[in-house]
Amino acid sequence: MSTSKTSAGEQARPAGDREPLLEVEGLGKHFPVTAGLLRRQVAAVKAVDGVSFSVRKGETLGLVGESGCGKSTTGRMIMRLLDPTFGKIRFEGRDITKLSQGRMRPLRRDLQMIFQDPYSSLNPRKTVGSIVGAPFRLQNIEAKQGVKKAVQEILELVGLNPEHYNRYPHEFSGGQRQRIGIARTLALKPKLIVADEPVSALDVSVQAQVVNLLEDLQDELDLTYVVIAHDLSVVRHISDRVAVMYLGKIVEVADRADLYERPMHPYTNALLSAVPVPDPAERGGRQRIRLQGDVPSPLDPPPACRFHTRCWKAQDICKQVEPPLVELSPGHEAACHFPENTTVSATDAVAKAAVAQAATPADDTEPAE
Ligand code: SF4
Repeated sequence: MSTSKTSAGEQARPAGDREPLLEVEGLGKHFPVTAGLLRRQVAAVKAVDGVSFSVRKGETLGLVGESGCGKSTTGRMIMRLLDPTFGKIRFEGRDITKLSQGRMRPLRRDLQMIFQDPYSSLNPRKTVGSIVGAPFRLQNIEAKQGVKKAVQEILELVGLNPEHYNRYPHEFSGGQRQRIGIARTLALKPKLIVADEPVSALDVSVQAQVVNLLEDLQDELDLTYVVIAHDLSVVRHISDRVAVMYLGKIVEVADRADLYERPMHPYTNALLSAVPVPDPAERGGRQRIRLQGDVPSPLDPPPACRFHTRCWKAQDICKQVEPPLVELSPGHEAACHFPENTTVSATDAVAKAAVAQAATPADDTEPAE
């Protein structure tokens, strides 16, 4: 798999010039844990605990982290398949955090999701034509050329034979099923697609084909992606920017090349050190970092820096003061008291961020609908 990504849209317009399509601000999801006859809440699983990021039009943001870090929960909240406990989600500048499912329905045209498992996400009793054509029926939309023709065009777009319109999912391979799932998300020409581990259930041999298909479709249809994955090589191939999550928090965000070449958070460094590289020279002398211990429970995450129980650089301050996510070099943010690959003092960056925050005028955005 090549590691370069340069879309037509990217060449035409620098990423920084594009407007944000999606903005997530302090988003959190706590799942209550209940006990006793009265089902009283006794604790909460802090699956996502205040994440903020934005995704510009035509951009791909990779959301990466170990299993259980909260990345899929974040994706489902963006899609409004889960209600956030706190925080805000804005789509095209509109606050959609508390929209009812009825008011979300028209927006479902613009927001679509690709699911991880191409086997369980397709109804085995429905034909491909019925599955890919379902969004037209659900949204009561008549295609100009008729739904069948529209579906056949989409099948062709994702590299499937339009003659397979009347076939059933079990007649296809894993890669082809994922193409059917992708075709379904494209039916109504969405603006944003959240792809949750889109290739992790596929054979390595077909992963690259599906990733390349997603990139080609992005160029052709001007799509914006949030790609959720635990596999850093997939994220590296497809993303413009990458956000790294650990235990419900974002610990680092940067342009792809910057993040992979100069990881600043020790956790990112550890993740990258574990990625297999075919040529040891490409490692650039980077040693494999083996993290000690398991990921702590999101029921009772460690105080201050959540990574301190596994971090080889941890000092007293890491256990007492939560490091904020601050910009340590242009476009590169990390939440660490002792970041790596930077000459910027974390203390200075934190102080600068605090001054900037104090100078920010009060939030005057409209209340949620
Ligand atoms: Fe490690 Fe401290 Fe940085 Fe946390 S703040 S990642 S414990 S060095």
